[in-house]
Amino acid sequence: MSSIHELPFLQEKIQELKDQGVYRRLPILEGANESEIVLNGKRVINLSSNNYLGFANHPRLKKASIEAVEKYGVGAGAVRTIIGNMDIHEEMETLLATFKREEAVMTFQSGFNCNAGTIQAVTEAGDIIISDELNHASIIDGARLSKADKTVYKHNDMNHLEKVLKESRDKYRNILIITDGVFSMDGDIADLPSIATLAEKYNAMTYVDDAHGSGVLGESGRGTVDHFHLHGRIDFSIGTLSKAIGVIGGYVAGSKTAQEWLNHRGRPILFSTALPPAAVGAIMEAVKMLMETTEYTDKLWKNARYFKEKLGKLGFNTGHSQTPITPVIIGDEAKTMEFSRTLLDNGVFASGIVFPTVQKGTGRVRCMVTAGHTEEQLDRAIAAFEKVGKEMNLI
Ligand code: PMP
Repeated sequence: MSSIHELPFLQEKIQELKDQGVYRRLPILEGANESEIVLNGKRVINLSSNNYLGFANHPRLKKASIEAVEKYGVGAGAVRTIIGNMDIHEEMETLLATFKREEAVMTFQSGFNCNAGTIQAVTEAGDIIISDELNHASIIDGARLSKADKTVYKHNDMNHLEKVLKESRDKYRNILIITDGVFSMDGDIADLPSIATLAEKYNAMTYVDDAHGSGVLGESGRGTVDHFHLHGRIDFSIGTLSKAIGVIGGYVAGSKTAQEWLNHRGRPILFSTALPPAAVGAIMEAVKMLMETTEYTDKLWKNARYFKEKLGKLGFNTGHSQTPITPVIIGDEAKTMEFSRTLLDNGVFASGIVFPTVQKGTGRVRCMVTAGHTEEQLDRAIAAFEKVGKEMNLI
């Protein structure tokens, strides 16, 4: 019998993953995250990063980051509530609030942390969280940490949401409706105007995780709330600083009251060290660039439309995406992973996404088009999709 220290119960589960054809090693990126990369020693087109605007290796962000390190050092040295709150943290939040057209912003160390910390802090026993069934894992985990009751509504189904609201209104003190702004696996946009209207009708709070809408939708990438002109009607507007902004971090944009409360009860604020100066300097530069020019967001959308149209013409099922997230839906899990592996052999990295990240039987290769791609790179990628798709009888 093997010893418990060899973790036999985990070895068994790992073997199951191998048997199902979904076991994978972490890919190793040699160099910066750009539109063309060296992956495991091979040069490939990168269709899998959230670096929507190409900011992750942008010279202006790097310069700002270095300047912040020179002045503030490499670490904040403490949690914000003790002595980790530097003037640049405050400056970053003021800038983000101006950009987001909201009263105040509270930043966290990551988007994941932001959801995990905020949902728990703003709900309690006697409340209910009503969440879209396709919401991100960090929302699910945040809700699990809360003592409120939880329920889900069918994806973007406003009739179902209203039914749940009707049933909940008299039973609970506060109701919190949570949705992704842009759904990360399908690229569709939440019906936020209807959600805001229903929330007002049933006196509920609204919470939008706009990780994939920030820097992508709305004027100059101000996000899904701005896209629908819903300022003042969404209580908690969450964004990440790790995707379009290109760095790391997450934030809640909304009221001064929300910011004040999170300062006292947002557990990642109280118990985890503040964002490092290098990140803060780069984030501020990215936001300034978005406020200066639409060059990056325009290019992102141009590339996304081009790529999606070409894939559709080839006969691939790209689902109902309304954003640069372009799923190529295959269905079967093992076939999805094989498609992704063969694309890689042909010079394109587009990661296969299978259960439990998406529902069983809805495996897909998810393509993330960015502003950094050239038309020539997109054409090369499309040629690889055509070749492998035909070889595998997918088109
Ligand atoms: N929310 C959504 C919808 C996401 O897609 C992600 C990132 N996968 C997160 C939150 C977490 O953001 P971060 O990577 O900044 O922690």
